[in-house]
Amino acid sequence: MYDILVRQATILSMETTPDGSLRKPFIADIAVEGQRIAAIEPNINCEARKVIEGQDYLVMPGLVNMHTHLPMSYLRSYGDDLPLQKWLETRVYPAEDRWQAEDILWATQLALWEMIESGTTCCNDMYFFVDEIAQAVDQSGLRAVLSRGIVGDWQDGNERLAENIALYQNWHGADHGRIQVAFAPHAIYTCSEMLLRKISEIAQKYQTMLHIHLAETKQEFDDCRKKHGTTPTAYLAELGCFDNPTIAAHAVWLTEEDENILAQYGVKIAHCPRSNLKLGNGMAKSYELLQKNVGLGFGTDGACSNNDLNLFLEMRQGSLLAKGRLYNPLAIPAEQALTMATRDAFSYLGFPQAGVLQKGNLADFILLDCKQPHFLPPYDLISHLVYSAQGSDVQSVIINGKIIMEKREMKTLDTERIRFECYNRFPRILA
Ligand SMILES: [Zn+2]
Repeated sequence: MYDILVRQATILSMETTPDGSLRKPFIADIAVEGQRIAAIEPNINCEARKVIEGQDYLVMPGLVNMHTHLPMSYLRSYGDDLPLQKWLETRVYPAEDRWQAEDILWATQLALWEMIESGTTCCNDMYFFVDEIAQAVDQSGLRAVLSRGIVGDWQDGNERLAENIALYQNWHGADHGRIQVAFAPHAIYTCSEMLLRKISEIAQKYQTMLHIHLAETKQEFDDCRKKHGTTPTAYLAELGCFDNPTIAAHAVWLTEEDENILAQYGVKIAHCPRSNLKLGNGMAKSYELLQKNVGLGFGTDGACSNNDLNLFLEMRQGSLLAKGRLYNPLAIPAEQALTMATRDAFSYLGFPQAGVLQKGNLADFILLDCKQPHFLPPYDLISHLVYSAQGSDVQSVIINGKIIMEKREMKTLDTERIRFECYNRFPRILA
């Protein structure tokens, strides 16, 4: 007997065909046993503890948010339309100083709720109060890579690094590997050179990833040239940071040589087009990076610079922005955008078996209501997913073989309580 059986759904497996394109959606049953997909066949004649009639649904792997700061969901719209430095100094930093551990627990749950209900099943997070974040992620059922955003000089930076090490020791590999831990030097302008070297060495010792902000603003780029005589990308390469598998968020300000360095070291980019646009930081050269075989996925960044955590919108923006910036409608076509947001991003975060629906792989998938008007006519479902789908089309979410949301009802998070805690806490935090 299987744990879950989805019957006669339209399945977009994200498998590649011999000609290199995505396998077209097909109708089949999909069975889950434990954390894994036990079978995908035209008709599965076996009982299951839970049967989902899938005739109205499109089943596909979940989306991946490659760069976010979960608790910043509490800072949504708090200080919009301000210059970057003023926004950080008068809004974000003072509010963060008022955080207490329990605030983080609820702010994280708010973010997790929003991500799950819009079809994201995996994220890559960097923040502080990491034990509370890990507890919330654990409860939610979301797949995640977590890290402690480390800032500072040698002294205080080392204390934060110790928190990241404790996070690794307590949570890396938790729940059958659903939770992984990376190390996160925040950025070149918030970490001393010694600290960057040390974090990089520790990540190598633990054989895990680095997660860092890279070349997000023109100021970061110009300051680095003045201070170190080189670009942010070349600077990190010289320090040995890219000797680790690295997820670099933003990568907006790059020279052609920087693009070559990222390709050479296999650095993966969390492309955050809406955050870059909203903060007036520019537009990453996503298309050019892809041409050089640099791997890209999409990230929302925190909800205070986006302002939502909806990966469908991020993927669409990323595709449209490349076309508009280059006057080229062929740039980042739908198949490529969808592959970046799912299969590629899972693989970059160390979960290659979560991004393709096939027997033996992890049972991480979402069910979308494809009877909505913007899915009609059903001529090209892959195009619909990138250019017209809504996060609210997601009806049910399964992660690691567990039902996390069913017919839009959250199974692991108490949404009424999250709403209550959010209303109660925001007057103090956003004083
Ligand atoms: Zn960020």
